[in-house]
Amino acid sequence: MVMVSDYTVSYDEEENIVVESSVISYCPMCGGVLSYRDTCERIMLLERRERRNYIIRRLKCHHCGKLHRELPDCLVPYKHYAAEVISGTLDGVVTLEDDDSEDYPCAATMKKWHHWLVVNYLRMEEYLKSAGRHLSGCGEDLLKPGITLFEKWRSSNVGWLETILCLIYNSGGSLAVF
Ligand SMILES: [Zn+2]
Repeated sequence: MVMVSDYTVSYDEEENIVVESSVISYCPMCGGVLSYRDTCERIMLLERRERRNYIIRRLKCHHCGKLHRELPDCLVPYKHYAAEVISGTLDGVVTLEDDDSEDYPCAATMKKWHHWLVVNYLRMEEYLKSAGRHLSGCGEDLLKPGITLFEKWRSSNVGWLETILCLIYNSGGSLAVF
């Protein structure tokens, strides 16, 4: 799987959302160039259990031959709910008392996401610090032990979840899934 943040969408005759991207992606397994192979369906759930059908591209690696789904960053790997609903829940913006949600996502699902963040917290922190060490513009202060880069990132970026997921999955990394 690879993720893209730069894409356009259009609707086909069945009201599916078709994702188009001209970004050149690289195989997270071997670094080979990926090219278009075919498309596949992916669903997205929103609050009130509103469902959207996405048509996303499947890419093939020129080097190792592996197929990768190209996930737009509004979607989250291995989860059906939209990135904005999940990050909104984790940030306390989407809550059970929210009139917009009408029990979807339900309490159990929200609890599962909070647990997911707890389990993956240190791993996300390490990915951010590792990326920071390779970026010359990243201040040394941020990389010192005791400074939580993840919290700084999260509080200053609206799309924090989308960006972190792109960073991790496009470099061949992964997070605990449940
Ligand atoms: Zn490959």
